[in-house]
Amino acid sequence: EVYNPKVGMRGFVVIDNTALGPGKGGIRMTPSVTIEEVAKLARAMTWKTALAELPFGGAKSGIVADDRKITAEKKKEIIEAFAKALSVVSPGMYVAAPDMNTAEEEMRVYAKVNGLKSVTGKPSDMGGLPHELGSTGWGIFHSAKVALEYMDKDLSGMEVAVEGFGNVGWFAAKFLAEAGAKLVAVSDSKGTIYNSSGIDFEELDKAKREHGTVTRYTPGKVLSSHELIGVSADILVTAAIPNLVQAGDVDRVKARLIVEGSNIPMTADVKDLFHRKGVLVIPDFVANAGGVISSYAEYVGKSEKEMMGLVENKVRKNTGIVLEQAKEHRIKPRDAAMRIATERVLDKCDFCRVELAKA
Ligand code: NAD
Repeated sequence: EVYNPKVGMRGFVVIDNTALGPGKGGIRMTPSVTIEEVAKLARAMTWKTALAELPFGGAKSGIVADDRKITAEKKKEIIEAFAKALSVVSPGMYVAAPDMNTAEEEMRVYAKVNGLKSVTGKPSDMGGLPHELGSTGWGIFHSAKVALEYMDKDLSGMEVAVEGFGNVGWFAAKFLAEAGAKLVAVSDSKGTIYNSSGIDFEELDKAKREHGTVTRYTPGKVLSSHELIGVSADILVTAAIPNLVQAGDVDRVKARLIVEGSNIPMTADVKDLFHRKGVLVIPDFVANAGGVISSYAEYVGKSEKEMMGLVENKVRKNTGIVLEQAKEHRIKPRDAAMRIATERVLDKCDFCRVELAKA
């Protein structure tokens, strides 16, 4: 826990595990952020980086501040004080990144204090590879392709519904459409646009840019945001809110493949229900690892092109391994993914093995 009363900075970092490398995780700045919230996210990062086979552990940090109530100058001062306070662990044990309310300019401030290797998500003039390159959506696209191969299906002509049209959803929809899938529904916070004959990606993008919502695309039927999950489609890509699909929604979902682009779009219990129905769910930390793989590419100084290649290879490989193991052991993909990630961490951490046995 770190403080600088003079600046008004209060924050914390949770370094969950460093067996595979320095803990990797973003800086979340909200008025309500807690150590418990950050600890959960840090643990999730441990599994995500292990599964992606990156030389990173898991971590996350938080700064208690309301960025809508402070000036840009104050925000910078707080980040600077936070970075200085973390210099004892960063970059050795903690490599930072953007998270809620922190972005590339905050990473610039952090890097100036702790060095270029202490943080990813930096501006491109500092060698950064911004999320705007679409790494996460690119990974989701490849994960979906591998899952379809596993189901003996071809992407061409597959009907796709995408929840969310922000960074993740926009790129996932773009790559899928460009590869021949048929976009039938896309949602944002204002609603869903649905057209069973297909939605033109370029026109959809134009509607969103001009009017601020996908629901202004024509022709199509406008539904509520939540109704997206029930439309007739082969694939559902989640790319917006947590807990999108509740237990009571399971029977409404028609897709046979769900790719979790967003984090925690459903609980483990809901996944069980889909598993029993024979719906394949590709877990979030398998499908959406493109972002953290891109961070690694930045960390080791790779170019944009090399980063996209790395995301493709790693996400394809990991989706394949997870699906193979799930089949072999007759378990859910999420359990298979957790088994692989846990083994990778335990292999390098005798202490973790002892702790796990105690738990
Ligand atoms: P974003 O802020 O760029 O976009 C979010 C989108 O969701 C917007 O289009 C918004 O209109 C839409 N939205 C909000 N409420 C909605 C609702 N009720 N129904 C449908 N759409 C709604 O966010 P993002 O970066 O695209 O992240 C989306 C999710 O993916 C989050 O869960 C995030 O944690 C996760 N994720 C993001 C990355 C990344 O690289 N950006 C990596 C891994 C995971």
